[in-house]
Amino acid sequence: MTQYTNTISTFELLERFPTEESDRLYFEQKLWNNKPKCPSCANQTPKQIYHHPSRLGLYCCKCCKTQFSVRNNTLMHASKISLRKWLYGMYLVVTARKGISSYQLVKELGITQKSSWFMGHRIHKACKNNNVIISGIIEIDET
Ligand SMILES: [Zn+2]
Repeated sequence: MTQYTNTISTFELLERFPTEESDRLYFEQKLWNNKPKCPSCANQTPKQIYHHPSRLGLYCCKCCKTQFSVRNNTLMHASKISLRKWLYGMYLVVTARKGISSYQLVKELGITQKSSWFMGHRIHKACKNNNVIISGIIEIDET
């Protein structure tokens, strides 16, 4: 694995992503280039994808009636952990020079041991697959 140089501080990271909403917008830009894409039929036509009227970040596809969010088909799929904790967890894993234990994730993120194992496993798997979200986190760290 490449040695990543840690160029932004945790403080800067948290300043850049202060809210759940800022993280959602970041992931949407990274994954979809701001054009939500249906995970079921791959439809990305703006007029056929609309916002759910009451749930921010949830989209509906007119073609196949699928409801989806930026989490679908990503390492955050079907997880109840907030996007902020995911983003920070990814940051911790990709920038830890000597690796990070599941116990450290528990402490840093305030999640359960079970969630930490789940998250750590998914992040490591995504790292191996050159995941677009993980490369985004590495870019954040390098800019
Ligand atoms: Zn669809």
